[in-house]
Amino acid sequence: MRLIFLGPPGAGKGTQAERIANQWQIPHISTGEILRHAIANQTPLGLKAKAYVDAGELVTDQLVINLIQERLGQKDTERGWILDGFPRSLSQAYALDHLLQNLRQPYSQVINFQTSTEILVKRMLERGRQDDNEVTIRRRLKVYQEKTAPLIQFYQKRGCLQQIDGNASIEVVNQILSGTIQEVLSV
Ligand code: AMP
Repeated sequence: MRLIFLGPPGAGKGTQAERIANQWQIPHISTGEILRHAIANQTPLGLKAKAYVDAGELVTDQLVINLIQERLGQKDTERGWILDGFPRSLSQAYALDHLLQNLRQPYSQVINFQTSTEILVKRMLERGRQDDNEVTIRRRLKVYQEKTAPLIQFYQKRGCLQQIDGNASIEVVNQILSGTIQEVLSV
């Protein structure tokens, strides 16, 4: 099972990805998590990414594409994976196509978490991550609209996009999502 989780910041992609990944015993690959870890450890990647993440901007495509390429090349991805937070732009989506073709690992489905802006902002403020302050939240939502939202149509056109209502509670979303995944797998 190879899934791409799409949606604005605060939609609950990470929380849901964590659960599904545990259930299925496959890696949950979050570019945001990898970057935060690199920043905390002051690795060369972290030093390059820090200013972008702090400002709520996207880090450069090349940086995240290299990161994903390396991660998907690791052994534990053979049974499947969930991508959370990648791709985030059309150029990243094309790069992912290319990469998955080389790896002979097509994705099974793209799941889009539709969530109202009000709920997104509330969740992010409650979460209280370092980049969850009001200014950065506003910027991340704008960047999402400009760069990431076009991916909905991109994957819709390919007929491989499932919409999930991300407004409900963690439990409810998890149940709906599990049902959707079962459906996808049984086709
Ligand atoms: P996230 O945890 O997915 O909300 O990501 C946190 C931050 O990491 C984002 O605001 C970006 O600065 C950076 N980031 C994560 N994934 C990507 C990506 N695919 N492309 C560019 N920047 C990213």
